[in-house]
Amino acid sequence: MTDRYAVFGNPISHSKSPFIHGQFAAPTQELLTYEAILAPVDGFEASLTAFFNAGGKGANVTVPFKEQAFALCDSLSPEAKLAGAVNTLSLLADGTIRGDNTDGLGLVTDLIANLGSLQDKRVLLIGAGGAARGCVLPLLNAGIAQLTISNRTHTKAQLLVDIFTSVDNGAFANRVTAVEMNELAGEFDIIINSTSASLAGELPPLPAHIITTQTVCYDMMYGASVTAFNQWALSQGAAKVIDGLGMLVGQAAKSFTLWRGIEPDTQVVLTLLRDKLMAEPK
Ligand code: NDP
Repeated sequence: MTDRYAVFGNPISHSKSPFIHGQFAAPTQELLTYEAILAPVDGFEASLTAFFNAGGKGANVTVPFKEQAFALCDSLSPEAKLAGAVNTLSLLADGTIRGDNTDGLGLVTDLIANLGSLQDKRVLLIGAGGAARGCVLPLLNAGIAQLTISNRTHTKAQLLVDIFTSVDNGAFANRVTAVEMNELAGEFDIIINSTSASLAGELPPLPAHIITTQTVCYDMMYGASVTAFNQWALSQGAAKVIDGLGMLVGQAAKSFTLWRGIEPDTQVVLTLLRDKLMAEPK
């Protein structure tokens, strides 16, 4: 019997997830389908319920439904609970829905694939939206020395820090701080842009001195050309820039493993996806 999976979003036609999951399944003996479902903005829960009633086994969730997905789960992973957002839903054998957030694990996997260990790295995370929230716990769990969060609206960065300083009996308290953008100082090994500024070709208002010749910059956005943030980082002399395509494949791989118990080969699929992206009309 073929198992059904899907990604829900609005819009959704641009989604690379059906391609990625199709590639993950191809070399295995797994019998599954994976489709993209456009849910009405006010009809996510109804669409999801119809999908599960029709035999759906699991789903990915993207903009703008990650918070709604979080709210309708019966159980949650620690990453999802702390992020307040879910990108992976699994229908369990007892009929309940489990929510995971694999975005941050995908980011960490991609960073490690590119840089090796993250142990003792000083990391600056720019942005405090949904994507940033999902990345804080996986980054801290990867052994980084220090996480500085900086956001255009500073109160949101502070709120995020407050959440993480209060969990696990304050275990993370001395490793995560919020700093206003115009007060950023010191050196960072890795700077991650999790803002949606690049989508509009814009830059967060960052001081240029935070980039050194040792800094690796990561933009969660991806595309056929270098993102605005990564272009700026290169012009400031950054050691290396990476875009978010590997994170996209990485988070999909974590979902696939949760559903199927198999770890797919991400590097092969990333190469195929990069080629596909470059071949798309600009
Ligand atoms: P949200 O809308 O939740 O958050 C947007 C964030 O961007 C906020 O922190 C916002 O700041 C900031 N921002 C927006 N415009 C600007 C600007 N012009 N200057 C400075 N800051 C700005 O979005 P998400 O967190 O869900 O997504 C953010 C990005 O991450 C998107 O580009 C998305 O495509 C990408 N992403 C990539 C993934 C991948 O797999 N590669 C996975 C998930 C997301 P403020 O609070 O002040 O409004």
